[in-house]
Amino acid sequence: MSEAEERRWVGVMLDKLAAQEGRRVLGDAELTARAERLSEQYFGGRARPSTVRWVTNQNTRWGSCTPSEGSIRLSHRLQGMPEYVVDYVLLHELAHLLVPGHGPRFWELLEAYPRTERARGYLEGVVAAERLPTVPADAED
Ligand SMILES: [Zn+2]
Repeated sequence: MSEAEERRWVGVMLDKLAAQEGRRVLGDAELTARAERLSEQYFGGRARPSTVRWVTNQNTRWGSCTPSEGSIRLSHRLQGMPEYVVDYVLLHELAHLLVPGHGPRFWELLEAYPRTERARGYLEGVVAAERLPTVPADAED
C-alpha cells in the first residue's frame, strides 16, 4: 500500500468511527480544501500547504507544520471540537508557512480571524479540564 493509499484508508476508517460515534469528521481531502479556503479568506491565498492531514501521534500539540515541505498536521484530538476551533488551528499552522515562531508579525496575521481569542480560550479550557482531578475535592472522605 502506498503512503497516499494508506492515508486515504486511514481517512475512511476515521470517518467510519466518527459516524458510529455520531459525529462528523472532515477527511484529509476536505481538510486540505478547507485550509485552502481559509488561506484565501484571511491571508490572500499566500499560505499554500502541500498536504494537510490528521495525525494520531500528536498528543501535546494541536497542530504542527513543516514549512520547508508545506505540510500541516492536525491532532485527531481536535475531531469533534467546534468548527471555529479547528479553523483556528488550521489558520495558526497556515500562518507558520508565512511567519516562523510566535512573534508580533505572527499574531498580526491571526488577528484577521475574528475567533482567534475565543478558540484559544476553548483549547486552554480543554487542557485545564483534562488536568482537573476526576473526583471533586468536596467528595473526598
Ligand atoms: Zn505556532
